[in-house]
Amino acid sequence: MTVLADLLTALNTGAVEVIDLTAPLSEDTPIIDLPADRGQPWPFSREVISEFDAAGPTVHWNNIRLSEHTGTHFDAPSHWLSGKGTQDVSQVPPGRLVAPAAVIDLSHEVAQDPDFRLRREHVEAWINEHGPLPDGGWLLYRTGWDARGGDAKAFINGRHTPGVSEDCAQWLASETPVIGLGVETVGTDAGLADEFEQPFPCHWFLHGAGKYGLTQLRNLALLPPTGAVVITSPLPIVGGSGSPTRVLALVTRP
Ligand code: MN
Repeated sequence: MTVLADLLTALNTGAVEVIDLTAPLSEDTPIIDLPADRGQPWPFSREVISEFDAAGPTVHWNNIRLSEHTGTHFDAPSHWLSGKGTQDVSQVPPGRLVAPAAVIDLSHEVAQDPDFRLRREHVEAWINEHGPLPDGGWLLYRTGWDARGGDAKAFINGRHTPGVSEDCAQWLASETPVIGLGVETVGTDAGLADEFEQPFPCHWFLHGAGKYGLTQLRNLALLPPTGAVVITSPLPIVGGSGSPTRVLALVTRP
């Protein structure tokens, strides 16, 4: 197929660049801060199986332990009560894992207010400037929060982290053609979203509509507002509510 040969040529020449949107995964990867009486996701940890020693003279490998929602990860519709019993992460069609992206930048506003909530009017202003949201694509919400990714305390920030308003989440879920929302924060919702009138509105509305979430993204500043293609690769955990994932973006360079 010529189109794939052309893509490979463009990758070789640098006309198409691959940008990694994934945060490194380690023992330092921040974990969502939930009330102590709730179940808690495991942070990433590892244990050596062998490291060129008696347990395996020629091999280094580790066992790892983490939750489905540790680090940069993919939220499937079955993650939330509103999507209970619907699509799990192993059932996400592969065609959904390669998708266009719209990038909306509210980093200036978030710098003034860490509890900033994206509202419908912000997205409508973006549409007026850049055109419709991509059918079958992602809305990637840039907040500048990725700059805090190396410091778990600043990243969690006492649960003062940006999110999306209830009515905007409902509108994105039910009236726009996007397949999901990608964010730079620890989860798709604001840190204080359990206190909203509709708690965790991104989770509630998006998953209820069969849509997805992507979290702890980095390098959204390197993406154009339109035209990037995002590749996600959640593990097909059978019955899984989500999965850690690599997230790559293809962008054209002039
Ligand atoms: Mn999640």
